Amino acid sequence: MKLIFLGPPGAGKGTMAARVKEYLGIPHISTGNLFRENVAEKTQLGMQVKEIMEQGNLVPDDLTIAIVKERLSRPDAEKGFILDGFPRTILQAEALEKMTSIKHVLNLICPDRELIRRLTGRRFCPACGRSYHVEFIPPKQENICDDDGHQLSIRDDDTLEAVQNRLNVYMEKTRPLIEWYENRGLLRNIEADVPPDTVFERIQAVLNK
Ligand code: ADP
Ligand code: AMP
Repeated sequence: MKLIFLGPPGAGKGTMAARVKEYLGIPHISTGNLFRENVAEKTQLGMQVKEIMEQGNLVPDDLTIAIVKERLSRPDAEKGFILDGFPRTILQAEALEKMTSIKHVLNLICPDRELIRRLTGRRFCPACGRSYHVEFIPPKQENICDDDGHQLSIRDDDTLEAVQNRLNVYMEKTRPLIEWYENRGLLRNIEADVPPDTVFERIQAVLNK
């Protein structure tokens, strides 16, 4: 099954994509994680995108489309995948439409007030990319990833300043995709301002319809 997780930063795309990955046995492809890996490894791409990401701006479309095209061409993505954080612009959506056909676009809806609480308390595992929250989704052992025992970090773009910018960028560049996918009959709205188990049940209901 080929899925897109749409929604503002902090809506829970990464958290839910990790669960759906286990549920359906398809890869979770997060462009944010791909870029962060490049930044950590100091690749040429990483050097190009580091500052853009820290400020909460979007990486240029050509670089983003190229990284997704390469990832989708790998054998594990043949039968299905979860795209998390891509597309984020109409141009990216148009490029994706030429690469493959999508079954559902799951649009996670969450009010700004809650997004800010989620993002400013977020912790992530630099090794596997898994998201936690100090209050809402804490790891079993403080500041340690449940899956691989690595120490958790705070993302450079989860400062209040970068979060505000990311929400503005979302409103301007990404929100128009809601209508774009609605017009193609692919949009599935999920109210995501509820505990994670409830969001996951709502997603399962859409997938099993
Ligand atoms: P996104 O990938 O959409 O930016 P994440 O999945 O990283 O968002 O989630 C953002 C933050 O909110 C993380 O700290 C995560 O642990 C937390 N979170 C995710 N889903 C929920 C939820 N349903 N209720 C409360 N906190 C959540
Ligand atoms: P995320 O992990 O999805 O919150 O993404 C973190 C950052 O990576 C974003 O704020 C952007 O700087 C960059 N990024 C991720 N996905 C995209 C995309 N589809 N287009 C442009 N930039 C992206």
